Amino acid sequence: MQIQCPNTACNARMIVQDKLVNNPATNIKCPICKQTFKPYEIISQTKNVGVLVVVDEQDKEIDKYNIKVGKQLVGRYNETSPCEIMIKSEDKFIHRNHFYIFAQIENGVAEFYLESHPSAVKGNGTFLEIDYSDRGGYSQQHRLTLDERIKLKSGSRIIAGKTKFSIRTM
Ligand SMILES: [Zn+2]
Repeated sequence: MQIQCPNTACNARMIVQDKLVNNPATNIKCPICKQTFKPYEIISQTKNVGVLVVVDEQDKEIDKYNIKVGKQLVGRYNETSPCEIMIKSEDKFIHRNHFYIFAQIENGVAEFYLESHPSAVKGNGTFLEIDYSDRGGYSQQHRLTLDERIKLKSGSRIIAGKTKFSIRTM
């Protein structure tokens, strides 16, 4: 992946292996200005790798939120228990801390994983819609259990409260 040196006097571009970028502990020394930095921090703060889209029953986009590399907590907009992606919604069935989207880069491509926050496992649940359109055209909702992590595909549908989300890669 291409990374830009965070030293604003330098801003050299360099190619760094994906597995090094995904590791928060990796330090890189810029070959130009010799400053040391963590590529994970740059990517997780700046680079959008996907979009979490709020959709209606007809799958039409209502709202969207950027997804960055790393683990980000999604929940209803609030000030007492803030999270990385706060959904502005009237839906009271979305918990303030509802589910995690975990994003990483694998072979240059963003991969997304879904985990439920423990309060939603006990509460209203986080559901993944599984589409069996190739097997008779029905879909089923799977309720995530504690510590269960499911890999998402582009277009995967997540249900939290009465709200439906879709994942899109950039
Ligand atoms: Zn530099």
